[in-house]
Amino acid sequence: MSSSLSHVDCPLLPLVGADVTVPLVDGRVVRHVNLDGAASAPALVSVAERVNAVLPWYASVHRGAGYASQVSTALYEQARRAVGAFVGERSGDVTIFTRNTTDATNLLAGAVPGRVLVLDVEHHANLLPWRRSLGGCEVIGVQPTVAASLKALASALSSRQVALVAVTGASNVTGESLPLDALVDLAHRYGARVFVDGAQLLAHRGLSLAESGVDYVAFSGHKLHAPFGAGALVGRGDWLEGVEPYLAGGGAVRRITEDEVEWTDGPARHEAGTPNLIGAVALASAAEALSSLPPERVAAHESALRSRLVEGLADVPGAEVARIWTDSAEPIGVVTFRVEGVDPGLLAAFLAAEHGVSVRDGRFCAHPLLDRLGWGEGAIRASVGVGSQAEDVERLLDGVRAWVSGER
Ligand code: PLP
Repeated sequence: MSSSLSHVDCPLLPLVGADVTVPLVDGRVVRHVNLDGAASAPALVSVAERVNAVLPWYASVHRGAGYASQVSTALYEQARRAVGAFVGERSGDVTIFTRNTTDATNLLAGAVPGRVLVLDVEHHANLLPWRRSLGGCEVIGVQPTVAASLKALASALSSRQVALVAVTGASNVTGESLPLDALVDLAHRYGARVFVDGAQLLAHRGLSLAESGVDYVAFSGHKLHAPFGAGALVGRGDWLEGVEPYLAGGGAVRRITEDEVEWTDGPARHEAGTPNLIGAVALASAAEALSSLPPERVAAHESALRSRLVEGLADVPGAEVARIWTDSAEPIGVVTFRVEGVDPGLLAAFLAAEHGVSVRDGRFCAHPLLDRLGWGEGAIRASVGVGSQAEDVERLLDGVRAWVSGER
């Protein structure tokens, strides 16, 4: 193990299942190395404990004066405040619980009052919903540098009326992002708002709406180590108050007669049906745990692991790591790579069966980006974060080297 990694020899936060073992094809049993948190991250131990503590009080939220129902309602609204605080909610913003980022993006797409601009590097969840929005969506081709990509956005913003610029907080393929401060300045200069797809970003870095000026952010609990089925949309309330509820049903309505409905306002307007109390509590608990860590400590931990992974891959003949921009800031702990002449699906299966390492292979729900990179055949993605340690990266590198050298 590289000596430079001695300070990352244990996770920053304990995960459920961190000691789970798996059998290998040669009969050995090893600790499971999960480098697929970018798809879904294992629960934090603190999240699981919080969920267990709340389960005895589980009842229907906002529905009745029963003791457990009152406790559940209080827990749900407390979770909403914690989740809003996690992303620096401002006065006038709403925090709406959703199922996940995809759900949150679709919700906002039904409320945006005009054209949306996106770059062609987005996850499908930050692309397809906008195509269905009433004002339509325009996809701008990304340029090789950050500066040129911002220029392409500026040119689009200056030549037509745009309501919203929707960008990823961190690419689920490369971990890169555009500088949000420059992007917010640019969009606001032309009267457009900014939506950040925080699905990947928020497990790795903080984002404050109040400090950044970002107008909306969406994220998923299952990527924040809170895999209990909740996500959130947080941002300016006016557009969301101005449209019909995302779902029609109980909880979203104030009064109903045979032929008239008066919808409620506030977050409940878009949360019809019995709320996912456990998911909300888990998401809030993960948000609190992640924001309790000093940001520079998280960044340093992740940077050491990511750098070791990228350096190790650089020594593997034929291996290549995906990048969108030549001049972007250091990516979060998401590394996508391919090895010349190697089928990513076979390599991923080998890593699981012979090294006990889980990674993601495929096209990562980002087909336009993979096509742009010329990686349409797919690749492998390994992600590291607060639950990762040096041995995880070394085991992955051992596996890749074994495959490439034919020692299998
Ligand atoms: N955006 C990004 C960048 C993602 O990585 C993902 C999931 O992989 C999503 C959006 C969609 O998240 P979910 O499937 O939780 O809705």
